[in-house]
Amino acid sequence: MSADLTELYQQVILDHNRRPRNRGKLPTANRVAHGDNPSCGDQCSVFLRLDPGAPGQPDRIAEISFDGSGCAISQASASLMTTQLKGKTTAEAEKLYNEFHAIVTSGHAPEEISDLAAFAGVHAFPARIKCATLGWHAALNALKNDAAPATTESHTD
Ligand code: ZN
Repeated sequence: MSADLTELYQQVILDHNRRPRNRGKLPTANRVAHGDNPSCGDQCSVFLRLDPGAPGQPDRIAEISFDGSGCAISQASASLMTTQLKGKTTAEAEKLYNEFHAIVTSGHAPEEISDLAAFAGVHAFPARIKCATLGWHAALNALKNDAAPATTESHTD
């Protein structure tokens, strides 16, 4: 990765932190889940509306928002996540999370993964991986309709 690209990717994180997308409660949400990362003090709730697909087609995320507080990595990641997950099915969301998790743990991102690659630098700071994945865990729990709060302490990543 060139120095210029590194700067660009950091810019993505700074931009989402300064101007979060889809922030705030979603009045029409039919799924809600909360995420908690006590090791850094980050909180993130995800609100989404899952709409039924056409007959024989899976449900899709029609609207998604987040609300929370915490470090720049956690909030920027949640903001970027909402822009990536809108319109996706649960299976597509899980696939995207797996790709994002691979980026933040390996530091390597395929070219086509776009803005999510901004978080590749997180791999050098293992404690921050929990910050970067917090919103994603909450979103996946919301999709599973799992009422239990997501906590970064209950899984190994
Ligand atoms: Zn954090």
